[in-house]
Amino acid sequence: MRTPVTVLGLGAMGTALARAFLAAGHPTTVWNRTPGRSPELDALGATRAATAAEAVAAGRLVVVCLLDDTTVRATLEPLAAELTGRTLANLTSSLPSRARALADWAAGHGIEFLDGGIMAVPVMIGGPEAFILYSGSTVAFEQYEHDLAAAARPAYVGKDPGLASLHDFTLLSAMYPMLGGAAHALALISREDISPTTFTDSYLVPWLSAMLGQLPAMAKDLEHGPDGPAGSNLAMQANGFHELVDLAVEQGVDPRMLAPMEQLLRRAVDAGHGDEDLAALVPLLRAGA
Ligand code: NDP
Repeated sequence: MRTPVTVLGLGAMGTALARAFLAAGHPTTVWNRTPGRSPELDALGATRAATAAEAVAAGRLVVVCLLDDTTVRATLEPLAAELTGRTLANLTSSLPSRARALADWAAGHGIEFLDGGIMAVPVMIGGPEAFILYSGSTVAFEQYEHDLAAAARPAYVGKDPGLASLHDFTLLSAMYPMLGGAAHALALISREDISPTTFTDSYLVPWLSAMLGQLPAMAKDLEHGPDGPAGSNLAMQANGFHELVDLAVEQGVDPRMLAPMEQLLRRAVDAGHGDEDLAALVPLLRAGA
């Protein structure tokens, strides 16, 4: 028989996770604070527990996907006795420090603990592009890796329980400015009689995809130093950047999305990195505010 899994929390993500475990044939017990949420899970074979304690008692692997760390603490702390001897996989987003504190709490109660960072939106769960970063107990990861793969490709990033969250939030820190930039681009283009869909399919996605292909070279420059003169030096980029701001103003679009990058490029040039490439921004940021 497949590992019995418990899912605590049936928000958008918890529901997607429960659906994936059910699809993979796991006996799946679910609990949600507000009863009756995601009724479609019943027809898929989920067992609905009346209390979180009852749900925990039904699963060897307990997956938690609640709003935030405060909610997780409030839900789990009264269940320490029920959780003892089981494996807890916390897929709720929270800071590394909070993941480490939760791991300490779990260790104090004999609970094997994994913290997870879900790199997907709910519709991607169970699909080929989704992955979930895990850190914490290697024993738990090795034992449940195959089961966890029902939801998304599991990627173990280390024993320190804070590492999954660190990687997760780091990746989100790259994603949000990129998506903010895309929103800015669509604001610019949709001021004209140009279809945002055509623009996105024909130009925005190919352009961003091509530029993403440059990232490994940037990482290599950072790790090993540049292996030649900059192809796109920062002085040139800082000099031209203000025209992007001017374009926003001309198009009647709020230019504030661009301001942090403009400032960063200027700082880099002022600090003597004008002849270097984008990798030179990294130590500048690492030096702190
Ligand atoms: P939702 O807002 O859809 O669901 C929130 C869940 O938390 C519900 O089950 C809700 O229960 C429960 N909850 C809220 N407050 C409490 C409380 N005080 N006590 C008990 N339960 C509570 O969020 P998601 O499912 O989208 O997200 C869940 C986690 O997954 C978050 O940490 C999020 O960062 C992470 N995540 C989400 C992604 C997404 O795209 N959705 C992507 C990657 C990570 P109730 O129904 O009773 O309100």
